[in-house]
Amino acid sequence: MTSSVTSVHLLDGGVLEVDPGSVVAGAAGRRIDVPVQMFLVGTTSGYVLVDTGNDPGVIDDPVAAWGPELAAASRPRTAPHQHPARQLELLGLTPRDVRAVVYTHLHHDHAGGGRVFPDAVHVVQRAEHRWAHNPDGHAGKGYARADFGTTNWTLADGDWHMLPGVHLMMTPGHTPGHQSVVLWDVPDLGNVILAGDAINTVGCIDDDLPPGIATDTLAAVHSMHRLTALAHATDALVVTGHDMAQFEALPKAPDPLRRPGGNPAGLRQQPLDLS
Ligand SMILES: [Zn+2]
Repeated sequence: MTSSVTSVHLLDGGVLEVDPGSVVAGAAGRRIDVPVQMFLVGTTSGYVLVDTGNDPGVIDDPVAAWGPELAAASRPRTAPHQHPARQLELLGLTPRDVRAVVYTHLHHDHAGGGRVFPDAVHVVQRAEHRWAHNPDGHAGKGYARADFGTTNWTLADGDWHMLPGVHLMMTPGHTPGHQSVVLWDVPDLGNVILAGDAINTVGCIDDDLPPGIATDTLAAVHSMHRLTALAHATDALVVTGHDMAQFEALPKAPDPLRRPGGNPAGLRQQPLDLS
């Protein structure tokens, strides 16, 4: 089957200032800035948005949008031009042009802009939907109920070939229902893996480290291994969830996503050489 994917654009959703240990397991030191990313996928069936960034309310008042605890744990710096609708304007589009929104998971920095797209189909894994509404107490902090409580959901049950060339892949561990998005045969780009927070930084791949926040650390490592194996097998560009260096190296809207030079996926471990 041929791919329906025609383009991919990386949209800039601002930054979060967080403890490094919340990004990479065991990391310590000063708080760091991490990017908040959204991806606009052009298909022959219309535009699909992957993740929606922060609640746009944080542009004016993070504490009003998220409450004091969450706004302090992940301090947002989001400018007006990083509103999802303003990012679409860079491409001459409006929220009505987005036919479907796919969420890697429902944490506050991925699901916050969902209400900007009332006309779209909203797709999340059933396991994530369940967990976001009924998390264990210690794991509920990253969810802002206002982001998703009234959304009309389309629930995916595991891996799903959602559209030709658009493959949702279950990658649990960061959350129980986390998914990554695999795009096949994108013109001028090849195969692309939007890992979401299944792989937070390129360094996580190199050092075999799960996300700093995980409901199941072993599952998170397993999910990362599945993604990196797939990337090797298909020469896919891996875009990680919160790597500032990778974000800065990649073209952002209005420019289309392109592979940077060198080893963009950061896959240091190469296949066994038996020659
Ligand atoms: Zn995140």
